Amino acid sequence: MLDLTTPKDMRAWSRAERARGRSVGFVPTMGALHEGHLLLVDRAKQRTDRVVLSVFVNPLQFGPQEDFAKYPRDVARDTQLAAERGVDCLFVPDGTAMYPEQPLVRVAPGPMADTLEGAVRPGHFAGVLTVVAKLLHIVEPDVAVFGRKDFQQAMLVRRMAADLDFPLEVEIAPTVRELDGLALSSRNAYLGGDQRRSALALSRALRAVEQAWRSGEADPKTLQRRGMDVLRAPGVAPDYLELVDEQLHPVRRADARTVVVIAARIGATRLIDNVVLGEGIASDVAVRGM
Ligand code: AMP
Repeated sequence: MLDLTTPKDMRAWSRAERARGRSVGFVPTMGALHEGHLLLVDRAKQRTDRVVLSVFVNPLQFGPQEDFAKYPRDVARDTQLAAERGVDCLFVPDGTAMYPEQPLVRVAPGPMADTLEGAVRPGHFAGVLTVVAKLLHIVEPDVAVFGRKDFQQAMLVRRMAADLDFPLEVEIAPTVRELDGLALSSRNAYLGGDQRRSALALSRALRAVEQAWRSGEADPKTLQRRGMDVLRAPGVAPDYLELVDEQLHPVRRADARTVVVIAARIGATRLIDNVVLGEGIASDVAVRGM
């Protein structure tokens, strides 16, 4: 596996591969890799001849009170996991390589970023889309793979690519969960024993909504109440539980395409999760914890 750190080298490698007729897949991450990230690598490998994985903890998307400084970082372990999974090129730029100057121009994410995560984390999606746009310009992939675990982010990236004519395909991969239902997240590393148990309230609440919908309930308010009853568990501070469509608009009636999005704080750790009602949590990928 090739290890690159500068945008110039990264772009040169990608262009050389494409000049040889090979397609390039790309998986952007903030590192602390887990099976969720590695599933995206598998997806990219199925679709393209060469796979690039980037590790960059993007300061632009963290609020001043958020966990940028303590976000888990372990490049040696990430390098090993990426190599074992068949990544061809690991791109790990540092802050100066990505932002030689404080960027003045940023991507304006528009109204899809005003709700849910965007309402709780002002400026977050402008930071995300700006770094994703930069990375896509550096790597110039044919296919970029994102996780549905971050549903609003995935929808915004897809919309940015369409609205701004990025010449690539955005693929969205299912959520990877531990066997008990907890969605994998680098931030799970912050959870202590009791908190790890409390965190199960998110997937339980999603399941409760899904079951109620399967039993015939389609009123979003009723479904929301059902989920909230489960989410309000000891040690859990709910942020939101909403039923939305792909534009992140609240739905008037829940159907198979409706997405239940959820966020809660467990102590100082904020977790998010979601389920597409017609697919269900059972259709996500389950793995034993790493
Ligand atoms: P992050 O490193 O958390 O910024 O995530 C990098 C990519 O991995 C994003 O596209 C995420 O949506 C995706 N991802 C994170 N957790 C999971 C998961 N549990 N299952 C699938 N994809 C995930």
